Amino acid sequence: MGMRLSSEDIVAVLKQMPSSILFKRIDSGELHCSKGFEKTFGITKLNGLDESAITFFDSHSKQKTAANELPFNLAATEGALSRQYRVQTQCRAMNCRVESGVITTSVGQWLVLYLTPDGNDFIDDNRENSAAGKHIAFNQLLSNFSSKLINANVNELDSIIGQALAAFGEFSNVDRCYLFEFSEDIELMSNTHEWVAAGVTPFIDELQNMPTSSLPFFISHISNGIFKVDDVSSLPDCAAAEKAVFEEERIFSLLCVRIMVNDTIYGFIGCDIIGSPYSWSTFDIQYLRRIGEMLGNTLQSLHNRKILQKMQVELLEANKQLEQLANIDGLTGIANRRLFDTTLKRDIQRCQEQGLSLSLLLIDVDFFKQYNDDYGHVAGDRVLIKIAQTLSNSCLGNDDLVARYGGEEFAIILPGTNNSEAKAIASRILRNITLLNIPHEASAYDKTLTVSIGLISQTNDDLQSLYDLSGDHSAGWLVSQADEALYRAKDEGRNCSRT
Ligand code: GH3
Ligand code: MG
Ligand code: MG
Repeated sequence: MGMRLSSEDIVAVLKQMPSSILFKRIDSGELHCSKGFEKTFGITKLNGLDESAITFFDSHSKQKTAANELPFNLAATEGALSRQYRVQTQCRAMNCRVESGVITTSVGQWLVLYLTPDGNDFIDDNRENSAAGKHIAFNQLLSNFSSKLINANVNELDSIIGQALAAFGEFSNVDRCYLFEFSEDIELMSNTHEWVAAGVTPFIDELQNMPTSSLPFFISHISNGIFKVDDVSSLPDCAAAEKAVFEEERIFSLLCVRIMVNDTIYGFIGCDIIGSPYSWSTFDIQYLRRIGEMLGNTLQSLHNRKILQKMQVELLEANKQLEQLANIDGLTGIANRRLFDTTLKRDIQRCQEQGLSLSLLLIDVDFFKQYNDDYGHVAGDRVLIKIAQTLSNSCLGNDDLVARYGGEEFAIILPGTNNSEAKAIASRILRNITLLNIPHEASAYDKTLTVSIGLISQTNDDLQSLYDLSGDHSAGWLVSQADEALYRAKDEGRNCSRT
């Protein structure tokens, strides 16, 4: 009688296999794994494995695999399986090719899954062809995202940075990839962007405004450019705080590189490996550095763009102020001759177009030369300021413009105002000026300072006939008419208005 292997013998043999194998007895559903699986996935359970301890994700959609697509189920219903999954245990998540087979013995049938991890080909692959291929793939990734970032507008940046982290995380087959930003004084750091592989817990929400003083070992390294830990358990005693944080998050390995913006440290980019130690290679460091530089350049140009925008706003504001200054009379604070000229041209055209009439007043102080002689130039200036205020207060229309035309002459543009309304305004001005009661010995009117007013009113029909004249000419013609009227007012005794 030949030797018969017992069920226990078969389990014992399969368990010794160095490759990653999961095997399940078809009739009882009893599940075991090989030594190789334990090692690769960090599982330590020696007897009986619970199927729920292993989670499968679709390697494309990143969703949990549906029950009917799970490898044991597929292998049982459809036969030989060869498919890509992301396989996660309590300790480790890895992209794997999963192939199936059936072992039939006289004591039972076993469904076997062979798991071949895609490997941390981020690095370990030293075969020249594959290393070169990896570099080419990396450079494509980098140039793809550089051009996206260069062409992005400010609002798109966050999402592109997120996409770049995801692409890099998948490319390098790590479990988490993130970007941190320091506060200006480097007192705080915040996780601004994070990508996690399927099944890995995101931490971004818990990593806001962390005091950097709580991680002194990390900060001193990252400030110098790089923080590389192959195996968290071998961190020195002075890194106890860091070790506690990483262990709590089940991070076994991590690599972070500093990001500089405008010659100061902005933050860092980093990757985590969960569940097993990993030796970071010089390629890993170079890749991460280059991604960090790309993001640094992007953030720098964003920073510069913001500064430029701020400067433009300030410049516009300064220009506005200059513009206003250029239109205001320094002594009286009302519109100057320059603003009067442009406004008159504009108002003539506007009134022509809108079917409105327009009136213009020219106001000249009576015997002002004598006033200066009697009371002094400084007192004369004070009088001009008072007159400017009184004229402004005497005009009630929103569109009226009171200007200092020159010396002791003022002008008022009254758009939409007809002759009788303009005459009423002129009378109001004459009254309000005498009510100022400014003593003037040389004046014939109660020894009080007075003004004379020349007035010209144009109906809309009048304005239409002015239309033939260019803007400059019609404005000039109106002013000369008002000036002639002013002469008549002076001739006819002053302290009056004439048309
Ligand atoms: P009339 O009644 O005919 O207008 O006599 P007038 O003396 O006011 O006329 P004229 O144009 O001969 O004199 C204007 C004077 O206004 C000359 C100048 O001394 C004075 N003047 C012009 N601008 C200023 C100014 O900015 N400040 C002061 N204080 N005086 C000014
Ligand atoms: Mg004058
Ligand atoms: Mg005068």
